[in-house]
Amino acid sequence: MELITQAPRGTQDVLPQDSYRWQHIERTALSIARDFGFREIRTPVFEHTNLFQRSVGETTDVVQKEMYTFEDKGGRSITLRPEGTAGATRAVLEHGLLNGALPVKVSYVTSCYRYEKSQKGRYREFHQFGVECFGAAAPQADAETISLALLILKTLGLTGVSLHINSIGCPTCRARYHEALRGYFEERKGDLCETCLGRLERNPMRILDCKSPICGRIAADAPVMIQYLCDDCRDHFTAVKAHLDAAGLEYQLDEHIVRGLDYYTRTVFELVAENGLVLAGGGRYDGLVEEMSGMAQPGLGFAMGLERLLMVMEEQGCSFAEDTGCELYLVSMGAEAAQRCFTIATALREGGVSVECDIVGRSLKAQMKYADKLGARYTIVVGDNELETGVAQLKDMKTGAVEEVRLDDSLYTTLYNKSLDRQLAGVADLFQAVSEQG
Ligand code: ATP
Ligand code: MG
Repeated sequence: MELITQAPRGTQDVLPQDSYRWQHIERTALSIARDFGFREIRTPVFEHTNLFQRSVGETTDVVQKEMYTFEDKGGRSITLRPEGTAGATRAVLEHGLLNGALPVKVSYVTSCYRYEKSQKGRYREFHQFGVECFGAAAPQADAETISLALLILKTLGLTGVSLHINSIGCPTCRARYHEALRGYFEERKGDLCETCLGRLERNPMRILDCKSPICGRIAADAPVMIQYLCDDCRDHFTAVKAHLDAAGLEYQLDEHIVRGLDYYTRTVFELVAENGLVLAGGGRYDGLVEEMSGMAQPGLGFAMGLERLLMVMEEQGCSFAEDTGCELYLVSMGAEAAQRCFTIATALREGGVSVECDIVGRSLKAQMKYADKLGARYTIVVGDNELETGVAQLKDMKTGAVEEVRLDDSLYTTLYNKSLDRQLAGVADLFQAVSEQG
């Protein structure tokens, strides 16, 4: 029997001492996306299985091999979301958002589930930050979406990220390409894996995305979509590149990017870290809304893998907005003092101060030790004497400096002024550093 103190394979816990790193990444991504007009959408962790079959695609690795699918007690087939686009699109359609002003721009942070071989940078539960934009067909939308992904990585402090782009055309030009691909793979049929043999008939492009090394080698020399683009798709892609050029956003053309999900059309892109890990993938999916609702409406977006992002940020020594931690620890001696400390803490907390006091029943010495461990910025000891006089010593745990404070409303003002002073000193340091740089 599995130990009940052991998490399932391919999952990870985020411990309290590390969660600020996640919060920093999520806050940064959501807030930059907000500046681009994307607002957060939250959708269920599970959906009807056929949503993913229809949108992600029957012949993809995700649908064929990786989904967590089960029957619920009502006999419905349910799947834990393997990606964010399908659910976001379903919600946007279900709530009629596309009947309002276009484009509709949504962003999300979600957990995703894929039954994959777990290894470095590949988990069974992982997290994505993603955006989707509906109702914008112009190449400006592609450039804007790509620039958002780049800006998030840049703001987080990552360096050496490269942008790879390609165009995989539309159903019109793809029909001709499929024929060429089928011809190519047909001749090499004997070496393809079992799954790819099925794909040969139904969707030969999926072979290009097969993870088997043999199929990969065969796929490397296959015809590439970009040479089969129709005039409209070629013009669109040329304009996307022109917009990226104009904004000084560098890219590499990578004619082998096809993306692992069926709904993509035209522009596809990947952001690759210096160490080769793919941090984000996305592109246009002009057929998805129509496939799901019958109403034609273009769309595009991208998703970033947060575990991989965090891993590369740590490797590169990027900084994270630190947890501010405990501002004041109230040390109490005796039952009456403990009650007074709780009252003071309650009032200060209402004012937004981070305060802690003893809830274990520790001795004075043990409370001091704990305050130190917490990294409390200040401590106040409250005993009989302080209760009687209403006056106590506020100790700065960083400098050791001690000053007299009153245990009344003025304590809030004192702490508030101190925190303001620290912020101002921080700003002054920044100015100093900037002026020294000349
Ligand atoms: P890969 O080719 O690495 O399998 P993918 O094409 O399946 O990636 P997408 O579906 O485009 O990935 O998902 C977008 C991003 O989510 C990826 O670029 C990656 O950063 C992250 N991601 C995908 N699968 C996993 C996973 N199993 N564990 C952790 N992150 C993942
Ligand atoms: Mg994959």
